[in-house]
Amino acid sequence: MHAPRAVVIGSGIGGLTTAVALHRSGWQVTVVERAASLEPVGAGISLAPNAQRALDVIGLGDEIRSLAAWQGEGGMRSPDGRWLARTDSTAAAERFGGPLVLLHRAVLVDRVAAALPASAIRTGCPARLVDPGTAGGRPAVIGTPDGPVEAELVIGADGIHSAVRDVLFPDHPGPSYAGFTTWRVLVPAPAEPFAPHETWGRGALWGTQPLKDGRIYAYGAAVAPAGARAADDERAELLRRFGDWHRPIPGIIEAAEPGSVLRNDVHQMTDPLPAFHRGRAVLVGDAAHAMAPTLGQGGNQAIEDAVVLAHHLAPGTDLGAGLAAYTADRLPRTTAVVRKAARVSRLMRLSGPVSVAVRDFTMSTASRLGPGLVLRTFDGIADWRPPQHTYAAGTNDAPVGQTRWTTTDENRDARR
Ligand SMILES: Cc1cc2nc3c(=O)[nH]c(=O)nc-3n(C[C@H](O)[C@H](O)[C@H](O)COP(=O)(O)OP(=O)(O)OC[C@H]3O[C@@H](n4cnc5c(N)ncnc54)[C@H](O)[C@@H]3O)c2cc1C
Repeated sequence: MHAPRAVVIGSGIGGLTTAVALHRSGWQVTVVERAASLEPVGAGISLAPNAQRALDVIGLGDEIRSLAAWQGEGGMRSPDGRWLARTDSTAAAERFGGPLVLLHRAVLVDRVAAALPASAIRTGCPARLVDPGTAGGRPAVIGTPDGPVEAELVIGADGIHSAVRDVLFPDHPGPSYAGFTTWRVLVPAPAEPFAPHETWGRGALWGTQPLKDGRIYAYGAAVAPAGARAADDERAELLRRFGDWHRPIPGIIEAAEPGSVLRNDVHQMTDPLPAFHRGRAVLVGDAAHAMAPTLGQGGNQAIEDAVVLAHHLAPGTDLGAGLAAYTADRLPRTTAVVRKAARVSRLMRLSGPVSVAVRDFTMSTASRLGPGLVLRTFDGIADWRPPQHTYAAGTNDAPVGQTRWTTTDENRDARR
């Protein structure tokens, strides 16, 4: 039987997990990536139980968990080292039905990509949506360096500055600057033991978390003008901003290789799109719902998108109805998460001494009244369950991605 053909534009976490989910439900999938290789940024990523359950659906949950460190032990501190709130990874796991875990992005991307035949992924292939097609008839068309390609389904997984989104919804203003910038570093573990922590200061925060391989993933955020960059280098900038914060923060920054510090301004889409699909084209991940990283949910939501989309697009189902069901499921949920992340960002951006003192007092009082109060931020997010538990084993016998890349003209010839 002819397996319907899907082309995914973008091989980030959203694009790759969507490709695997569609592949497992019987689609013939090709992923096109403009970068020369699949090399995610050198940073960690936290996966809450919601994303892990989605990974379970596509058969990858156990493997990913085995490569990740449990997160949630430690707590929140102030820059002088005072504990504002203690958190407990076991309590988090009990509350949400599983642990919050942290792993290197490269490990995640590597394991998800390995679930596809290598020939399903084409790197060095910038693509653009030429025609979203109509769900009832005309195929979608994308432009590639090899010429136009037709597909029954195009997935725009091209990230926060998505060009696919611009074609589908040209009137939407797109993401806007969230008012703060971020830094990320990976360093060897410090000799001195430390408790994982997130430290909240005035208009700035710092987090230090261990990875399973012994290294440390640390991140900082601070209110800053959009596009501002250190005149010297970002490691020096981090020392200026966080060098007098409690241990181990200064040592972590000093251990970073000069030039290895990643800096990204944060953009978000608090005004949702009118839909996540049009015609035969659909958006997943940051392309659909860019959010601030303050809940660590951007990638998690992309993984949820993947399994919900595949759930609604089982081959044989009506494409238009399936895409409408995907939008109906995902748009309200992701809008709520985007807005919650924006609210947490506003707390992080507070910089007046009085407002910061009130924030810290509230945090520590809430924590003393019950450790579960801090975890409540993730209620309704981390406890999400996918629409189905697993795909029927071996549903896809199609030689996914092993078919030769064909252009529009060749596809048309083949249909004659
Ligand atoms: C500081 C920071 C910390 C974060 N921490 C977490 C966390 O702990 N947990 C979490 O879940 N999320 C986290 N996030 C958010 C997370 O990184 C993103 O939500 C996630 O990576 C989005 O994945 P994506 O696949 O949608 O987009 P991307 O990862 O941006 O992938 C898009 C891909 O599309 C490709 N592309 C773009 N245009 C084209 C084109 N024309 N043709 C072909 N390819 C194209 C790009 O090269 C890229 O590979 C964090 C974000 C930041 C900034």
